[in-house]
Amino acid sequence: MRRCARIGCKTEATYSPKVCIPAMDVSIDLHQPIEVITGLEVCGAHFGEIKLEDFLTENFRGIIIRLVGESKAPPDFARAFITRIRLDGKEYAAFERNRVQNKPAQMPPPPQEEISNPFDILHYPAFGSLTEEEKE
Ligand SMILES: [Zn+2]
Repeated sequence: MRRCARIGCKTEATYSPKVCIPAMDVSIDLHQPIEVITGLEVCGAHFGEIKLEDFLTENFRGIIIRLVGESKAPPDFARAFITRIRLDGKEYAAFERNRVQNKPAQMPPPPQEEISNPFDILHYPAFGSLTEEEKE
């Protein structure tokens, strides 16, 4: 089973947060926001502890802005929100296939220094990867 990423939790993980970022000045009804599946896997009880602002780091914003490019409306981080997707659903399965196949190759080259992948959730507060010991 996949265990919840919350440190100390031994419950099975069932959800992953998806960060949705609308385009600036466009109604949410009129377009598909940018969607970023975070890959953080948590149980139902701990999903509520996840905070949107912890994902919207400067690094994350910069990468999203570069991905969107200049041809489209800029992302409106003030209206960003989180939805949850099931780990046993098709959307997450597709995300995992994609993650394995083209790891960082899909990311545009960093402008100056090395930047981390926006999907890297290791630095998420209170959540972390399991140590080998915990994996059982
Ligand atoms: Zn949990």
